Amino acid sequence: MRIALFPGTFDPFTNGHLDIVEKGLGLFDEVVVAVGENASKKTMFDLETRMKWISKCFENEPRVKVTQYSGLTIQFCNEVNATFILRGLRTIGDFEYEKQIAMVNADLDPSVQSVFVLSEQKYTAVSSTVIRDLILHGGNYAPYLPKAVTIDVKPV
Ligand code: ADP
Repeated sequence: MRIALFPGTFDPFTNGHLDIVEKGLGLFDEVVVAVGENASKKTMFDLETRMKWISKCFENEPRVKVTQYSGLTIQFCNEVNATFILRGLRTIGDFEYEKQIAMVNADLDPSVQSVFVLSEQKYTAVSSTVIRDLILHGGNYAPYLPKAVTIDVKPV
């Protein structure tokens, strides 16, 4: 069985992330969406909320599993028997960053292969960072988020 890990912060999970998972389902038998828990990285949404949203997005897709992890991504791959790491590419900037991570991961464990999926053109401008800004300042973020990602923010 081909299992791919899709690791990320998903703060919050966007249409761009959703697209990468859906494309991953065409390549792998199972996609494990792994929400990274990084104590030193401050997020807008807590781990529980981020996981709840992602689970809701895929409630009718048994081939997607949602889980949390901390520590090295490559170690977590071994824990869940993932032999692929799935990542999305929007820009050349993403490429440079992702390549660096993938090279180090390949050194750590050559049996796990990183696979990159290109973002759809319409999602190349979608980032969790920009969406957090829209949420914070009352901009219209709805077009960039899956329906299951319901944000309860008080108007500013
Ligand atoms: P991280 O903190 O690990 O970068 P993110 O949640 O920001 O986590 O992103 C997880 C993965 O999703 C990364 O591979 C990133 O390139 C990809 N990604 C983020 N936004 C998009 C998008 N709009 N289209 C395609 N891939 C995306």
